[in-house]
Amino acid sequence: MNERYSRQILFAEVGKAGQEKLRNARVLLAGCGALGASHAEMLARGGIGTLRIVDRDFVEFTNLQRQTLFKESDAAERLPKAIAAKKRIGEINSEIAVEAMIADINKSDVESLIEGCDVVLDGTDNFQVRYLLNDACVKHSKTWIYGAAVSSYGTTMTITPGETPCLRCVFEQMPDAGSSPTCDTAGVIMPIISSVSAIQVTEAIKVLIGDTSSLHRSLIQVDVWANDWRKIKLGPPNPECKACGMRDFEFLDAEAAEFAAVLCGRNAVQIAPPRPVAIDLAGFAGKLSNIQDIKWNEYLVRFAVNGSEITLFSDGRAIVKGTDDVSVARSLYARYIGI
Ligand SMILES: [Zn+2]
Repeated sequence: MNERYSRQILFAEVGKAGQEKLRNARVLLAGCGALGASHAEMLARGGIGTLRIVDRDFVEFTNLQRQTLFKESDAAERLPKAIAAKKRIGEINSEIAVEAMIADINKSDVESLIEGCDVVLDGTDNFQVRYLLNDACVKHSKTWIYGAAVSSYGTTMTITPGETPCLRCVFEQMPDAGSSPTCDTAGVIMPIISSVSAIQVTEAIKVLIGDTSSLHRSLIQVDVWANDWRKIKLGPPNPECKACGMRDFEFLDAEAAEFAAVLCGRNAVQIAPPRPVAIDLAGFAGKLSNIQDIKWNEYLVRFAVNGSEITLFSDGRAIVKGTDDVSVARSLYARYIGI
């Protein structure tokens, strides 16, 4: 065992046997934005043998304030985050393997993405993907660690199917489109990212070395600005839960029309929320205070970001003009409208 990990091995709960387990482990990092980049760096330095990093986005200058793996040249080159992360991790720890995948996590690929991984870390930025991950992980009895952060607050929960409540036991319904703040509308400070990701990664390490009795078994909510730390103890899974109780995997098996559709010949993609909503367009326009070019009336809000023009209707539907790439459109929807 090389001395790189000597201080971690000295920590008795890990020890030599634990370090060997970490070396043989594979972790899925679902998303490599702020939380994901932080997960990746901690896991790479800790000697977790294989990191499978899945992300659909490119590095932008607005990421550099909090996404620790990336640097200015990555943003200038608009490198895909999965690729930039792999390059940087190779410099941090050349002994581990990185499977970099530029992909949108959706119902057709999620099961193959989690396959072969010992634990799944949530570094996504939207509930659509989290409910999908929850379905897939419950179906295949895989532990996944939910995490979310915006503004100065964040939440995390470790889900071990069959033993703990799943995401749907705690949050039965996905929030309505446009109802939740996002980092691109409400902002975010880096310390909350570090706080949430640190708890998530510690939980992942406990799972990987088999110290499951040390898992926190709670819904943890942290606000680093308001100095508020809450740990809500979780009971057993809810037998009535659609996902883990009835094993009805609505998000995985959804036969509803595709969430996103390319509009032929228009260089545009339409995104529709999974259920109709009534968005307060004036209120929504007010949340986009950092965007210059914004117009709205009683029917729609239109604004431009990253070379694309987004038109949001009050039923939650949006048309993203300037791309025919569904993953780019989904990403912009998650970031600016939120789901
Ligand atoms: Zn459940």
